[in-house]
Amino acid sequence: MANKGWNEFEIGAMLRSFEGVANDIALTKQEDRSYSQSNSFTASVADWRLIKPVFNKDYCIDCQFCWVYCPDVSIISRDQKMIGIDMDHCKGCGICVEVCPTNPKSLLMYTEQTDEESAIAAWPKKDDKEA
Ligand code: SF4
Ligand code: SF4
Repeated sequence: MANKGWNEFEIGAMLRSFEGVANDIALTKQEDRSYSQSNSFTASVADWRLIKPVFNKDYCIDCQFCWVYCPDVSIISRDQKMIGIDMDHCKGCGICVEVCPTNPKSLLMYTEQTDEESAIAAWPKKDDKEA
């Protein structure tokens, strides 16, 4: 299908999210789904994000808060384990960092150009509780 602008569709037009028959989508892993070109999953937002979350698995307790709260479904979780971030769809809002409960946090925001290995090597230490 050729790309169309939003205002080129007829009123009431239906855009299919998947190619062909889409059974058991809820039980099909994201990477195995046949998304159609009209599904926003096929578009990347990576080139306009200015800041990004970096994940440090050393402190993660797999609470899944980041997965629940991410407004763009960009936290990748498998079998209730946080395994990373879908950087094609993350918009850099920082909500995952806000809700991460660990001390230090397991997710922190950095500029888009930050090297992840360097960020993890310089990760903040645990904050002492205030007396
Ligand atoms: S920064 Fe925002 S969009 Fe990106 S993974 Fe975190 S909550 Fe999701
Ligand atoms: S919110 Fe933090 S601790 Fe919980 S799964 Fe996400 S990264 Fe791990």
